[in-house]
Amino acid sequence: MPQPTAVNPAPDSYVYCPRCATPLVTQPVMDKPRRVCPACRFVHFTDPKVGVGVMVVVDGRILLVRRAMNPEKGKWSIPAGFVDSGEDPKETAVREAAEETGLRVTISGLVDVYFNPPAEPGAPGASIFILYKAEWVDGILRAGDDAAAAAFFGPDELPELAFASTKDAIQRLRLM
Ligand SMILES: [Zn+2]
Repeated sequence: MPQPTAVNPAPDSYVYCPRCATPLVTQPVMDKPRRVCPACRFVHFTDPKVGVGVMVVVDGRILLVRRAMNPEKGKWSIPAGFVDSGEDPKETAVREAAEETGLRVTISGLVDVYFNPPAEPGAPGASIFILYKAEWVDGILRAGDDAAAAAFFGPDELPELAFASTKDAIQRLRLM
């Protein structure tokens, strides 16, 4: 049986095959070294993690949530979360807004798509972040899920902000 190679091409790569528990080897697959199972031919593709957020603006003020968890715990960001496998990112955005702020929103447009390389290998966070524009339909503002607080802020009364995408959204708010 082949031995697992000592050097893994990525810090989150597997040592053993998640399908059949055979030690993986590193081989070039589609122009990159990847972890491959010599028994069942499983290939570990390290897929990007996708996050989505909503930019909800009412009377020139933007909806932000205070983060209850790392990364950037205690700072404020736009309501956001990770896309589940098989989930439409727009549904994720609506779901996360409801979970974190109590507000039911509808998606009204795409603001931008961001690429966030991890601060260090394996660091938490999304490598691809989709920011939607959304409108408040109904619901009452209350913090929930992994948000410690939820509130609207004008561009001149901002709290400490998390993430480049939030700062970019604020910059766009100033230009609106
Ligand atoms: Zn296998």
